[in-house]
Amino acid sequence: MHVQTHLLSGWCIANYLDLSPRERLFAMVAAAAADVDGISRIAGEEAYWRWHHTVGHNLWFGLIVSILLAAFSSRRLYSMLLYLGLFHLHLLMDYYGSGPGWHIHYLWPLRGAILTNPNAWEFYSWQNLTIFAGLLVWTVWIALRNGRTPLEALMPSLDAKIVAWLRRNFGYRRAADGHSAVRRSNASQADLDQTH
Ligand SMILES: [Zn+2]
Repeated sequence: MHVQTHLLSGWCIANYLDLSPRERLFAMVAAAAADVDGISRIAGEEAYWRWHHTVGHNLWFGLIVSILLAAFSSRRLYSMLLYLGLFHLHLLMDYYGSGPGWHIHYLWPLRGAILTNPNAWEFYSWQNLTIFAGLLVWTVWIALRNGRTPLEALMPSLDAKIVAWLRRNFGYRRAADGHSAVRRSNASQADLDQTH
């Protein structure tokens, strides 16, 4: 599946957990890290088919990435399990959405546990595009509701500009603003009642 889809999957889930901006960034890294073996494409198509879904798409790589990211997170065990879970979400998404013929060598370089989905859909398929579009809409909703985008930790000023632009163009008002407006109007009504 496309790397941007993996990144957004980590982002959307991280926003429903009690995490810092850096930990939300790490969640995106954990969700996409397996695709580091896609770099093998530089060495040609044959190398890509040989190494992609092996070097990065295995349990050991997932453990190393998760432990490393957790070392720089606040609650280490909790973070490690979260990152490892997101890493496996990547494998699950690839199992369905990386196109027919891909194998995931889950215990690479050990033998065995080679996962192949006989019903995998095409890489450029409506399923993959729909999942990406769904995650993108979800990301916009998070920006409107929580006031942050996947850029928050790396480019905070651009992040703030995008949030402001989205809120302006989608006519979004936070629920808290609505409540305080209601409270204000109730209070002024009470003032009026007292004066009568
Ligand atoms: Zn992948």
